[in-house]
Amino acid sequence: MESALTARDRVGVQDFVLLENYNSEAAFIENLRRRFRENLIYTYIGSVLVSVNPYKELEIYSKQQMERYRGVSFYEISPHVYAISDNTYRAMKTERKDQCILISGESGAGKTEASKKILLYYAVTCPTNDRMETLGNRLLQSNPVLEAFGNAKTLRNDNSSRFGKYMDIQFDFKGAPIGGHILNYLLEKSRVVHQNHGERNFHIFYQLLDGADDDLLSTLNLERNPQSYRYLVKGNCPRVSSISDKNNWKVVTKALDVIGFSTEEVQELLDIIASVLHLGNTLFGEGEEGETYITTETQLSWLAKLLRVDGSALKEALTHKKLTAKGEEMISPLSFEQAVSARDALAKAVYGRTFNWLVEKINRSLAIKVGKGSSVIGLLDIYGFEVLQHNSFEQFCINYCNEKLQQLFIELTLRSEQEEYETEGIAWEPVQYFDNKIICDLIEEKHKGIISILDEECLRPGETCDASFLEKLEDTVGGHPHFVTHKLANGKTRRVMSREEFRLLHYAGEVNYNVSGFLDKNNDLLNRNLKEVMCQSDNQILSCCFRREEVIDQKRPEMAASQFKNSLMRLMEILRSKEPSYVRCIKPNDAKQPGRFDEVLVRHQVKYLGLMENLRVRRAGFAYRRRFEAFLQRYKPLCPETWPSWQGKLVDGVSTLVNHLGYKAEEFKLGRSKIFIRFPKTLFTTEDALEAK
Ligand code: ADP
Ligand code: MG
Repeated sequence: MESALTARDRVGVQDFVLLENYNSEAAFIENLRRRFRENLIYTYIGSVLVSVNPYKELEIYSKQQMERYRGVSFYEISPHVYAISDNTYRAMKTERKDQCILISGESGAGKTEASKKILLYYAVTCPTNDRMETLGNRLLQSNPVLEAFGNAKTLRNDNSSRFGKYMDIQFDFKGAPIGGHILNYLLEKSRVVHQNHGERNFHIFYQLLDGADDDLLSTLNLERNPQSYRYLVKGNCPRVSSISDKNNWKVVTKALDVIGFSTEEVQELLDIIASVLHLGNTLFGEGEEGETYITTETQLSWLAKLLRVDGSALKEALTHKKLTAKGEEMISPLSFEQAVSARDALAKAVYGRTFNWLVEKINRSLAIKVGKGSSVIGLLDIYGFEVLQHNSFEQFCINYCNEKLQQLFIELTLRSEQEEYETEGIAWEPVQYFDNKIICDLIEEKHKGIISILDEECLRPGETCDASFLEKLEDTVGGHPHFVTHKLANGKTRRVMSREEFRLLHYAGEVNYNVSGFLDKNNDLLNRNLKEVMCQSDNQILSCCFRREEVIDQKRPEMAASQFKNSLMRLMEILRSKEPSYVRCIKPNDAKQPGRFDEVLVRHQVKYLGLMENLRVRRAGFAYRRRFEAFLQRYKPLCPETWPSWQGKLVDGVSTLVNHLGYKAEEFKLGRSKIFIRFPKTLFTTEDALEAK
């Protein structure tokens, strides 16, 4: 332990469990603010790390700093993401148990930066083996590639991850990294065809246009100016001052090389990126008899060339759809609007599937080894609870995900608390907490949950629309205490709701979701004849992405929300089988500025992250616990019988010491290897005594 504990008035406490009034949100935030002012961006809640984005480079990430944290126990040194990294690593090595680090927080809070720092910590400090050189490199290099294709400039974050990511790092029995594996979640595909004002499409498009040499651009028939492409102009934001697309292009192409992409694969990848841009510039006209035709023929031939598909088949598929009615195939023309949405659907499908392919390709190069004696550390960097002005299907999925993570968090925190009490031989004291299972059930329950109802509505023949989905929800879950709509509320809610919305009372607060677009987004349909064209592509990547079976097999593929639900279920199983640690990230202001601490904003996040609940669970029994030897070592000068050293059993030494200090029976308990202290005050008095000496 260091003097931070005694300087608590100025810099606050480095562990929230030491707050005297642990039920007070105001005290919690004040502590965060004090530390933030002193550039102390990290604070613990027990073993959870809370991090506040400094929005400036701090001198705390050097190699020397990494060395400081190696092999050092959590409490002996100031809180740091390296401490979490190191403790997790050591727990994996000594207990031979898989670990995971769950990083959460809203967009721009610093999740991705934290995960990169953890990865770098392992790359620098872990022992190496023969494979390590290439593997460590590949692990690190997978980041710029995934960020190029999966990140974008948004209003909240210039480098916002638009997908969720879970990465396993595999270590051999000596603790050297030997493999890795990435799972990706719910890429925001709609960004490919549309961006809000002030936002951009995925970085890779701008990198290619800015960074590629003239020859390359001309083989792709691309112009350098991003404003030439309809898919890039919507946000009216071609350049971002904090980003050098040109430099990043170099970084990304080099990374592709390190990971092991062949020249041919890179070319195919670029063809696909370019084809998405050409697709966006493919325009339609309406003929006299209402027929839709393509007005950009040259564009179309480039498109076919880059996608390596048959041009006339592509043209046909962009303007017609194929139906099977009573066993007979029929071709029917698309309306203008239908053609536009078929085109956009193709762009999203091509991009989204290529992204998945990219992740798989990286996984092959990281090649996890099934072997004896290896263990993994998983890193989860996933979107936090999101409440926007207008919340749609995406926010619904994201917040559902956070609901699940919260459920897991409570389950695992209680479990580990209980286990510690048990191993220490101390009676468990039950904790009251809010169990959010009821909300998870509302969303995910078979047949009766919101996702099931949405799927059913998508499959129901006849006229279905977002409004009929809302009605169905009212009929089925209308009585649920966490569900409200305009009709059900009968004007009795504080916030006005529109007739197109339903409201969920999440653990973190209320969110209104607008149902418009829910059915389409859940359906995520691509016309069959477009699939047929794509699966005949001579581009190897595309032919991996669009398989023949998909066209032949008439079975309806899983819909988007169900797919997400199932991948979340699998994620929960993965996480449940591991020993978790947590990093909770907080964004101090919306202006991306250093030194500014916006209290209202922070308070929201403290709530969304469930930090007060977290603290309550952690404080339910004892504020503070420490191993006997550490406790004795620190406080032995305060008692003549333990100074300069205690010769007998440790537990007797601690007992003698606290008796001498006048601890009352209800203030502490002695376990098998640790002392548990109920109130911070007791500890502070002891600290002050030490200080005075
Ligand atoms: P998230 O992944 O939570 O959306 P990021 O990790 O991308 O957020 O962080 C957003 C930005 O905030 C980064 O691009 C960086 O400028 C800044 N940032 C985040 N964490 C740190 C940190 N520890 N030190 C300095 N700057 C940071
Ligand atoms: Mg991120």
